[in-house]
Amino acid sequence: MLTKYITTITKYLVVFIMFFSILTPVAMANAHIDLDENTSSYTDFKVDYYVEKLGANMNIEQVSNLYFNQETSNAFSFGYKENTFWFHFSVSNNTTETKSMVLEFTEIIHETVDLFSLSNQIIHMKNGLRIPVDAREIKESNPSFPLTFLPYENKDIYVKVSSIYGVFGAIQLKTEEKFNADLQLKKYLYIIYFTAVIIIGLYNLIIFFYLREKIYLYYIAYVFIFVLWAANYKGVLLPFISMKVYDLLQITIPIFFIFFILFSQAILETKKHFPVLHKILSSFIIVCLVSLVWMFISMHSGFYFMNAAAAPIFPFLLIVSFWALYHKHNAAKIYLIALSIYIVGMSLLSLLALGLLPYNLILSHAAMIGSFFEIILFSLLLAYRINSVRENSEKTQKELILQQKTESTRLFHTVAEKTMALHRAKEQLEKELARKEALEAHLKHLASTDPMTELLNRRSFFDICDEAMMEASANEQALTCLIIDIDHFKNINDTYGHDMGDKVIKTIAKLMLDNTRTMDYIGRIGGEEFAVLMPNTDMDSAYQISDRLRENISKYKMLLNDKSVSVTVSIGLSYLTHEDKNIHTLLKRADTALYEAKDNGRNQVCCI
Ligand code: GH3
Ligand code: MG
Ligand code: MG
Repeated sequence: MLTKYITTITKYLVVFIMFFSILTPVAMANAHIDLDENTSSYTDFKVDYYVEKLGANMNIEQVSNLYFNQETSNAFSFGYKENTFWFHFSVSNNTTETKSMVLEFTEIIHETVDLFSLSNQIIHMKNGLRIPVDAREIKESNPSFPLTFLPYENKDIYVKVSSIYGVFGAIQLKTEEKFNADLQLKKYLYIIYFTAVIIIGLYNLIIFFYLREKIYLYYIAYVFIFVLWAANYKGVLLPFISMKVYDLLQITIPIFFIFFILFSQAILETKKHFPVLHKILSSFIIVCLVSLVWMFISMHSGFYFMNAAAAPIFPFLLIVSFWALYHKHNAAKIYLIALSIYIVGMSLLSLLALGLLPYNLILSHAAMIGSFFEIILFSLLLAYRINSVRENSEKTQKELILQQKTESTRLFHTVAEKTMALHRAKEQLEKELARKEALEAHLKHLASTDPMTELLNRRSFFDICDEAMMEASANEQALTCLIIDIDHFKNINDTYGHDMGDKVIKTIAKLMLDNTRTMDYIGRIGGEEFAVLMPNTDMDSAYQISDRLRENISKYKMLLNDKSVSVTVSIGLSYLTHEDKNIHTLLKRADTALYEAKDNGRNQVCCI
C-alpha cells in the first residue's frame, strides 16, 4: 500500500520537474528591458554574453567596446568553465518615476560576480563568494545589486562572472519591494524545509536513544550532514562564514556519502545477505575517506578526486538495491524508490551544472527536493523496519510460548507417566508389603501354633503365660491354670491306630476351644496333654468351666473306625498365689493336681 503511494508520488514528481525544465527557457526577448509602472519583476529576458579567453583579464572599458554576438536566456547554464563570462543587457526606465530596482543572481556559487552599470558614469559593484556578505551593497547570500533608474534613464548593465563550481544560474531584475517580498518568502520556505528535515532527524535521534541501534546513528548523521551541505549550498550559512569555511564545508559531501553507504548497508543487511556487495560498498567508504583527507590537504584537487571516485557509488547502490529486491529483501522496494528519487534529483542538478539542461529554479532545487523525499522515505523505512522487527519478535515470542506450551504439555505427560509409574510401584510395593506381612504373620502363626490342633504350641503358651502372670501379679488379679490329659490314651492308639489317636487329639482340641472363653489361652503342651490359662478368673469359676469341659468331653461321641467312642480327660487345676515367681510353679501345682485326678480314678477335676 505504502510503496504504491510512493511510486505514484515519484512518478508525478519526475514529470513535474521535467515539465518545468522544458517549459521555461523558450520565450526570448531582446537583450533589453523596458521598465514600466505595472511590472514588479523581470525574470524572462534575453542577455548577450561574451566568454573571455583564459588569462585575458579584460576590464570594463575593453569589454564595453566589444560586440557581443552571442545571446542566451537570463537563466543560463554553461557547465564547469574556468573562463570568465561577461553578460550584457540594457534597461530603460520608460516612466516618469525614479525606479529603485535590485538585480539578483539566483545562485551563490560564483566566486566573483562584478556588476558594471553604465549611463553617465560607470558604477562598479563587487559580489560573489569572495566578497563577505557584510561587505556587499545588499547583505544577502545571493549576489544582489541595487540599481536606481531616473525617469527615462537608460543603462547598460555588464555582469562579470567567474566560478569553480559551474557557471549556471539566473539573472533577475525586481523592484525593491518585490525583491524583499520574494526574499522573505524564500526564507520562510527554507525555514519550513530545514525545520522539517531537522525534525525528522531529531525524531529518529529520539528513537535511537530508545532502541540504541547503529542504523539510526547512520541515518541521523546522514540527515544532519545533508542539512549542513544544503544550508551551505543554498547560502543559508554564508552570512555567518567566510569563503574559506564555505570551501571547507565541501567536505560534507564525502562524509554524506560515507553515512549514506553505512545506512544502505545496514538497512539492506548487505553484510548478512550480500557479503561481496557489502565489501565493495565498504571499499567505497575507504575511497570517500581518502578524498576527505585529500580535501583537507588541497580542497580543489581533493574535490575533483572525490567527484570522480565517488561517481560510481550511486549507480552501484542502484545495482545493490535491485539485487536486494530480486532476493526479496523487505526494505529493498522502498529503498530503491528513495534512492531513485535522490538520483533523479542529483542527476538533474549535475546536468544543470554541466550545462546540459537549461536553468530554472526548480532544477536548481532538484537535489534538495529529491533528498527531502529520500529523507522522508528512509525515515518511513526505519519505522517500517521497527514494525517488522516488532512483528518478528512477536512471532518469535509466540513460537516460544507455543514451544513452552508443548514443552510443558510434554513435561506434564512425562510427570503424569512418572506419577502413574510411581503409583503402580507404590501399589506393587504395598502388595509386596502386605504379602510379606501376611507371610510374617503366617510364619509367626506357624511358629507359635501347633500344626495338628491349631492351638498354641508349648513354647508360645509358656511365653504368654509369663506375660499374663506378670500382668495379673501387677494388677492383683486372679489367674488360674489347668492341665488336661487324655485318659488311657495309649489304649486308643493301640485299639484304633495312631491316626485315630490323632483324630481324638484334634477332637479334644476342638471341644476345648468350644468350651472355653475367647480370653482364655489354650496350648498343646505334650502329645495328648493340654493346658489352659484363664486370666481374671478365680478358682470357683475356673472349676466350673473345667468341670463342664470335662463333662462335655466325656459325653462327646467320636467315630473311630466306624465305632462310636467316647473319651475322658483328667484335669489338674491351680491358681496364682503371691509365692509364684514364675509360671513353672503354677504349672507344677496344676500337674500335681492332674496326677491327683488320675490317681483318684480319672475323668475328674482336682484343684490345688
Ligand atoms: P493315663 O490315663 O495314665 O494317662 O494313661 P495313658 O495311656 O494315656 O498314658 P500316657 O498319658 O503316659 O500315654 C501317652 C501316650 O500317648 C504315649 C504315646 O504313644 C501316645 N501319644 C503321644 N503323642 C501322640 C500323638 O501325637 N498321637 C498319637 N496317636 N499318640 C500319641
Ligand atoms: Mg499323658
Ligand atoms: Mg494320658
